[in-house]
Amino acid sequence: MRSPEDELTTLYEEGLLRSLRCLESGRLMSATSEGRTIVNFSSNDYLGLSRDETLVDAACEATRRHGAGSGASRLISGTLPPHKALEEKIAEWKGTQAALSFANGYATAVGVLGAFLSKGDVVILDKLCHACLIDGARQSEATLRVYPHNDLNKLEHLLRHYRERLPGKSRLLVVTESVFSMDGDRALLPGIVSLVEQYDALLLLDEAHAVGILGSSGQGLAEELGVEDRITFQMGTLGKAVGSGGGYLAASRPWIDLLLNRARPFIYSTAPPPAQAAASLCGIEIITSPRGKELRNRLWSNISRLTELVGKTPSSAIVPVILGDNETALDTSLALLNKGYLAPAIRFPTVPRGSARLRITLSAGHTAEAIEGLHENLPESP
Ligand SMILES: *Cc1c(COP(=O)(O)O)cnc(C)c1O
Repeated sequence: MRSPEDELTTLYEEGLLRSLRCLESGRLMSATSEGRTIVNFSSNDYLGLSRDETLVDAACEATRRHGAGSGASRLISGTLPPHKALEEKIAEWKGTQAALSFANGYATAVGVLGAFLSKGDVVILDKLCHACLIDGARQSEATLRVYPHNDLNKLEHLLRHYRERLPGKSRLLVVTESVFSMDGDRALLPGIVSLVEQYDALLLLDEAHAVGILGSSGQGLAEELGVEDRITFQMGTLGKAVGSGGGYLAASRPWIDLLLNRARPFIYSTAPPPAQAAASLCGIEIITSPRGKELRNRLWSNISRLTELVGKTPSSAIVPVILGDNETALDTSLALLNKGYLAPAIRFPTVPRGSARLRITLSAGHTAEAIEGLHENLPESP
């Protein structure tokens, strides 16, 4: 039998070994790691809400009132007032009949795709979709097809092909992210929505990196473009800009009713702690308030500042610096860390081989000096 040591050695030799880094205090703009203060450009806490006092208080209050754990799965006795309040808030915010929350975004994707798809259905994904969407699609046993990133001609070709061949009862689902997690670019959403309608398919939109950042009430890219009413399944995480943890699907009532009957990660797992749901609700309340708008404006001025310095068009809070091979990415990341900036190296299999990169994420809380300092220490335009 092969030993774990052998596998670890192979990973090391390929420059693909990963290990954990513990940030001792603070996670947002400045953190300490091994006794040093560093500026964190790696968090998805885009608005800084995870350390917001109102969220922390909401979590503490929910814990005192409802306990540290939920005690059972949601369908048994684990559904507590914070879960219900959170889901009502998500549905109201997204303008859908209903919503269902999950322990995290990963479980949401796997749960939704597994619940709605089965053998004989077809799911078509953008090539750069997040691992959880791919895993969910694979586990569903539906036929899985992939189109090159944002290639709407290829998407149309696949839709036409399957629309002509699929029996009437089979489902045809397109899956895309709105802001892509490792490149920070956006889906060509209006075109995708039109194609999905033209070929009578369904659309699952994962707004993980757009929630809180795009749209007048922070709903995401669909709201920004005014197409939210035309998307059957609006999915997202509560662990990034919302500042807590969890995931959600917002949809019409029958789909949500079906989901809670079929989604295995929802059914066979203890409900998330009430503190998590209460903090998520509080995060959404802030995102939809004037303060949320102010935080978004601050984030966007930080995005503009960095993208201008590196000569890119601003499209999201994620700014990749593609370096190519694993070693260069690791060395560059380490050199930055020595200068006091945390910008992680992202390697295969998170990104395709040969496109290892620094993934810089911006937050509303970064200062102009920190961004300029980071830029001065980045390698010359590769
Ligand atoms: C982070 C992410 C998820 C998973 O969300 P978690 O709450 O972290 O599990 C899902 N989809 C995309 C696109 C993501 O970037």
